[in-house]
Amino acid sequence: MTDWQSIADQIATASGGPFSPGRPQTVGGGCINRAVVLDDGQRRLFVKLNAADLVTMFEAEAAGLAEMAATDSIRVPVPVCTGVAGHESFIAMEYIELGGGRGDAAEAGRQLAAMHRCTRERFGWDRDNTIGSTPQPNREHEDWVSFWRDQRLGFQLELAGRNGYRGRLQQRGGQLLDRFGALIDQDPAPSLLHGDLWGGNLGYARGGEPVIFDPACYYGDREADLAMTELFGGFGGQFRSAYEDAWPLPAGYQVRKQLYNLYHILNHLNLFGGGYLSQAEGMIDRLLAELR
Ligand code: ADP
Repeated sequence: MTDWQSIADQIATASGGPFSPGRPQTVGGGCINRAVVLDDGQRRLFVKLNAADLVTMFEAEAAGLAEMAATDSIRVPVPVCTGVAGHESFIAMEYIELGGGRGDAAEAGRQLAAMHRCTRERFGWDRDNTIGSTPQPNREHEDWVSFWRDQRLGFQLELAGRNGYRGRLQQRGGQLLDRFGALIDQDPAPSLLHGDLWGGNLGYARGGEPVIFDPACYYGDREADLAMTELFGGFGGQFRSAYEDAWPLPAGYQVRKQLYNLYHILNHLNLFGGGYLSQAEGMIDRLLAELR
């Protein structure tokens, strides 16, 4: 049984005002968490729930939403609070009514470019988070190549080894780890990234305003966000052309895109197994062929 009273009390404390919602309305569509809408007639909040020991996942999500909101570039749901209630953890955030996929894709491209203009000194972030339900380490690095090697590809490859994917994947993957640095010749800046920007994490509010949510934020090469928008589709040609009008992509993106998307395919291998093994191996082979 969910302790709705405790959740409502924590929301009231965090927001400094009373909150006495009616019956929670269940929302479908999430990949990881249970979601409900809580509404007290004054405020509607979107609340995601999971096991109590996953509260740090929600804390990192709230921090990511706050980090993106602070850039004032693209709309994200404003986080209200996170907490533990009985055997569950939760995150509460602004509810945004998302219309059925219709919106201004070009504006989404321009606004994402504006968010990517927000940079920091170092790659990574000051906290770890999750990508899907997989841990995502963000230890800060001065150098993007070593960040991508240690915190991204190397981490997922090692996890794949522990999941039983040894042999060719590890051998070819290891070669790629040693050599992929030659593909990164564009001197990327540490941009604020959404980090998990597949089509399911972009929506449009009423009136067509773009909204991104469910982030796995860190500071990294902006091409990593762009690459993921192409991996599973859902963004539209106007999105990309508007992004590039605002901030053109350097030469070599088409190859690096594979390097960046390999991270997500390895993560899918670790989460779901199956056909992602041959997809990951094919990507590694093509990248090694580029490096010959
Ligand atoms: P999960 O973490 O389980 O993947 P998501 O954060 O992707 O869940 O949310 C699931 C769905 O709920 C989204 O696809 C979106 O349609 C909707 N949604 C997400 N955030 C909000 C929000 N703040 N307000 C209203 N609807 C939302």
